[in-house]
Amino acid sequence: MLTADRLSPWSQAKVVVAGLGTSGFAAADGLLDLGAKVLVLDDLASESNAEKAKVLEMLDAEVRLGPGSTAQLPADADLVVTSPGWRPSAPLLRQAGLAGIPIWGEVELAWRMSLPDRQVPWLAVTGTNGKTTTVGMLESMLTAGGLTTSAVGNIGRPIVEAVLDEVNYDVLAVELSSFQLHWTSSLSLHSAAVLNVAPDHLEWYADTAGWPAGVNDSMAAYAADKARIYQRVQHACVYNVADSATEQMVAEAEVVEGARAVGFTLGVPGPSMLGVVDDLLVDRAFIPQRRDSAIEIAKLSDVVPFAPHNVANALAAAALARSFGVSPQAVGEGLRRLKLGDHRIQTIGEVGGVRFVDDSKATNPHAAQASLAAFESVVWIAGGQAKGTSFDELVTRVAPKLRAVVALGVDREVVAEAIRRHAPEVPLLVLELGDHGVMEQAVKWAATQARPGDVVLLAPGCASKDMYSDYAARGNDFALAVAELTG
Ligand code: ADP
Repeated sequence: MLTADRLSPWSQAKVVVAGLGTSGFAAADGLLDLGAKVLVLDDLASESNAEKAKVLEMLDAEVRLGPGSTAQLPADADLVVTSPGWRPSAPLLRQAGLAGIPIWGEVELAWRMSLPDRQVPWLAVTGTNGKTTTVGMLESMLTAGGLTTSAVGNIGRPIVEAVLDEVNYDVLAVELSSFQLHWTSSLSLHSAAVLNVAPDHLEWYADTAGWPAGVNDSMAAYAADKARIYQRVQHACVYNVADSATEQMVAEAEVVEGARAVGFTLGVPGPSMLGVVDDLLVDRAFIPQRRDSAIEIAKLSDVVPFAPHNVANALAAAALARSFGVSPQAVGEGLRRLKLGDHRIQTIGEVGGVRFVDDSKATNPHAAQASLAAFESVVWIAGGQAKGTSFDELVTRVAPKLRAVVALGVDREVVAEAIRRHAPEVPLLVLELGDHGVMEQAVKWAATQARPGDVVLLAPGCASKDMYSDYAARGNDFALAVAELTG
């Protein structure tokens, strides 16, 4: 399995697919296409899993659903392909590890399936925050440059699906999460970017089974997985000048001879960087005269919605696009054509000079901080599942711009305590979890606190699953509450 690729004798292999989520289904489907014997296991016998099972069974897979299905790894398994949601300590994965059976994720499988005869270059993005936005920008720039591409990976479309697609892609725009990177071992990307690294998902990394050798805390384990994206990069390792951890990762990566480090910065760029000069985004990396000049690639006004973190995302996307030869004009054109996804600093409405902004996608403190940085004076609605992170540093930094704060959700006290400690003078409302219409109450109270010119900002800094099905449902609830207010 060490060197397995698309042309290996898959009909002799028995592959266990662990977890029947979106990527598990695509992995099983792809493996069946290659002729492998496939066994799919999932403890959840939901309706949607049962439907997916039916489809796979028609293609000759064996599928076991329901409690206990994933307890035991079959003795004759040659390979396990795991869902990124599974922790490394899951019994089945532990058993595979002990038995020396290789474990891949769908990303590793997709990479192997593209070799040796379907190799489409990948431009990939990871980071704690901004991945989806950056990949969306990148896809738009590549398309504007006349290339056939698809945004795949963590953004929603399994990479395997694109690799098997009849469309001949010139290049793929790939979003990778740390969980996905954890189970990769042979990727050699055209170019890759790490946008930033801040505490998130520490509960996934809490158990030592998931830690690479030599790593001894969960934050380091999380960062080590992100750093995997730079291994064997062929052209450009794109890092964030403002986040030295990302530059350090590039310095430590084993890359292909000739691959370059390229920085992005919100300041004036040095040689081999992209950055900002006056109201322009400029490239001082992918031009021959980079020692003493830079070229315009876009205007700041091309970045919509405008916020410092979206300028950073645009520069990272531009660096990847430029590393692939996309013209400066196409970079700007790509930004102008793009409509970013909902729930990412999306203005919902305005009442009496107060703007209501939905950034429900800010699901960790680092994202909430970026969000708050985009505004002067804010009534902040925060809370949900804190995932083991702390709000102390965030509150210390943003305290001067807080008009008032609403803390809600299961970890409301994590937020509230940070406010009491570092911004005790800021009015604080803590809403109990079971209260009826929590979001409605939050928005109503926030409106009473806000003054003309302020922003009421939903940037929870937490995951949403304590109260909602996902961040979108939370954002929609906020929008509904704002609509009630505006009549
Ligand atoms: P991801 O896919 O990594 O979750 P998104 O592009 O969906 O990232 O953005 C999620 C949230 O993270 C945004 O709503 C915003 O609050 C914040 N964010 C986006 N880009 C950045 C960035 N470059 N730095 C810090 N925070 C960011």
